[in-house]
Amino acid sequence: MNNNKVNKLKIDFNALGTINQIEIFNSNDESALKKAVHRVYEIDDKMSVFNKDSEVSRINSSAGKSVQPVSSDTFYVVERAKYYSRLSKGAFNLLIRPLINLWGINTKDARVPEGYEIESTIKLINYEDIILNKEDLTIKLLNEKQCIDLGAIAKGYAADEVKRILLSNNISSALIDLGGNIYALGNKIDGGSWNIGVQDPLDIRGSSIGIIQIKNKSIVTSGNYERFFIKDGVRYHHIIDPRTGRPSSNGIISVTIISDYSMDGDGLSTCCYVMGLLEGYELINSIKGIDAIFITEDNKVYITPRIRDYFILIDNKYTLVNL
Ligand code: AMP
Ligand code: MG
Repeated sequence: MNNNKVNKLKIDFNALGTINQIEIFNSNDESALKKAVHRVYEIDDKMSVFNKDSEVSRINSSAGKSVQPVSSDTFYVVERAKYYSRLSKGAFNLLIRPLINLWGINTKDARVPEGYEIESTIKLINYEDIILNKEDLTIKLLNEKQCIDLGAIAKGYAADEVKRILLSNNISSALIDLGGNIYALGNKIDGGSWNIGVQDPLDIRGSSIGIIQIKNKSIVTSGNYERFFIKDGVRYHHIIDPRTGRPSSNGIISVTIISDYSMDGDGLSTCCYVMGLLEGYELINSIKGIDAIFITEDNKVYITPRIRDYFILIDNKYTLVNL
């Protein structure tokens, strides 16, 4: 825990398969910060596919066999993930995991699978095969080898939970960064808005194409630079198009969603990444209170109309286009 100045505390920690940071301002409440971090660990313990004892792993290992009881946390996140799977007509797919395993993205065994392997794995990912029973909080996967992956949405849920805990401990100014899922809570100490950089997908981490000036909003990005491997000069990244079984390739290289809830931002950023510019924009347009920034491989930055008020493009290799 780092406490250079009075009334400001920061903590960095690993969880949810990524590096996280929570910074609070106008407060020295170390115990509130610890409660927030503890909550992230708790969510990770329940939802990680890498922890074989997690609730999600239990559902996965009993696929095709038995019903699993889960906590209300896991039930809620799986329910929302199924909702986003339906909303995006399967561009988002919470049963994508067998394909992620096949590609081995983010493991030392990453490889380009054969077409026949992709064809047979795609058969496993029908998201209607996940059966949710709200009354007794149980979940079941209908067929063996089916596997849930909440990687596209759990960080958003965790960010919302951190925000809730900070607010309930009277912390009204904070920057929550869970592996790039940002929540900018309240005002900066000087009363102004936060300046949040939007990652340049074509440049090193930390370089921004532009700045979002905002208060009390979540900013979540899905990008092809997050996790990938390169084979024979081709970049294979971690967002899989469930229709092809291959890394999504539709001209989009990053989508940023600005929303009140980070879980919505996280779900929608993955939806839009796979749906592509036009369908993705239509989806965003149909939901009240959500803004989006789409970056395409030809260096164009497409924004929803309201963003003009609070987004500044700072990199002139990109061109801003209104949608
Ligand atoms: P995000 O960075 O939020 O877009 O989430 C990407 C992560 O979600 C990946 O690392 C996978 O674990 C998982 N994922 C990949 N493709 C999809 C997809 N089409 N639908 C849902 N989850 C996905
Ligand atoms: Mg996401």
